[in-house]
Amino acid sequence: MTATFRGQITLDGPSGTGKSSVARAVAARLGAAYLDTGAMYRAATVVVLDSGVSLDDADAVARVVAGATIEVGTTADAELVQVEGVDVADRIRSAEVTRAVSPVSAVPAVRRQLVDQQRALVAAADAVVVEGRDIGTVVLPDATLKVYLTAAPEVRAERRAGQLGLTTAAEIADLAEDLRRRDEYDSSRADSPLRPAVDAIVVDSTDLDREAVVDKVVELAASTVGAGERS
Ligand code: C5P
Repeated sequence: MTATFRGQITLDGPSGTGKSSVARAVAARLGAAYLDTGAMYRAATVVVLDSGVSLDDADAVARVVAGATIEVGTTADAELVQVEGVDVADRIRSAEVTRAVSPVSAVPAVRRQLVDQQRALVAAADAVVVEGRDIGTVVLPDATLKVYLTAAPEVRAERRAGQLGLTTAAEIADLAEDLRRRDEYDSSRADSPLRPAVDAIVVDSTDLDREAVVDKVVELAASTVGAGERS
């Protein structure tokens, strides 16, 4: 299949909607680059945790992140996340980082730094799928296609539990509570809260499997001006 899509697709939404796997698959189908902005906030969180500064000290958090070199790749099938040249791709998925990432990403100076970096990476690609929380609203307000992916909270908790291999009711209840807390934090912060852009197409994946969501986003991409996919 030859991709002819040119432009930017933003994929925003809360945790556990399958955003990452959908974004990667759409990028692969369209032959587009892929940027996981959550991985950048997670890498910044690694920097903060390693520095020992308090998560409550926004100035110190901003200072240590400003002094760090964070690198992420833009290829869907080869994850690259580095801090000072050290691979942190596994570490950014740890429970410790997941717990601390929302307060770090609520610091405006951290957001400005990473948004600048995100825009530079996007500018280098002819076609790109970018996933996050504020991509359609703040990072790329003029994107070619904006999708906001959502799903019922219990379905999101089950999917995330499946990914993490959690099976007991107590573990799943804890996970549901963690997701709820993180979404509430991300949605209520003053800077760039999680919400759909006014011109985003909302896709509810509660009753759709991953392939159906991927098909839908690829169809939407094909229907935008200058976009398409040839077989
Ligand atoms: O997508 P992921 O779960 O990896 O994102 C981790 C966290 O990074 C989110 O809960 C949110 O606090 C932050 N984030 C953000 N803006 C983005 C992407 C992620 O604030 N564009």
